[in-house]
Amino acid sequence: MVVSVDGGCFCGSVRYHVELTSSDEAHGSLCHCRNCKKAYGGGFMTAVKIPISCFSYSKGNAKVHAMDNGSGVLVTREFCDMCGSSILEYPESTKETHRFITLGTLDDPTKFEPVYEIFTKDRLNWVSPVPGARQRAKL
Ligand SMILES: [Zn+2]
Ligand SMILES: [Zn+2]
Repeated sequence: MVVSVDGGCFCGSVRYHVELTSSDEAHGSLCHCRNCKKAYGGGFMTAVKIPISCFSYSKGNAKVHAMDNGSGVLVTREFCDMCGSSILEYPESTKETHRFITLGTLDDPTKFEPVYEIFTKDRLNWVSPVPGARQRAKL
């Protein structure tokens, strides 16, 4: 069944559309790494991995920032340059295939739930594992 969802930044300047042929194409995850804490300003990053072909911007243009994440992996992040909301990210390895959109920018963030967690070695003490989610100490 086709899953059609929309999302956007805090100020509304940037909007996007996601159209999946099935909800199986989306994979929710949490990343506890230090870079995600810095980049997103929270205790962890909450992402939904989707095929790049399912994603399109419907309004505005996101600002693009690419940087080595500290372990030799180039990570590109796109965000609204008016309000700073993070829209998505992708490592070099999925540049041509997938996008990790930020769960919180979806108009309905209840649509997808985390199925795995990575960099759990950097999980903050007060954060509990998501029940049923696969746990990986690193990637
Ligand atoms: Zn904005
Ligand atoms: Zn991370």
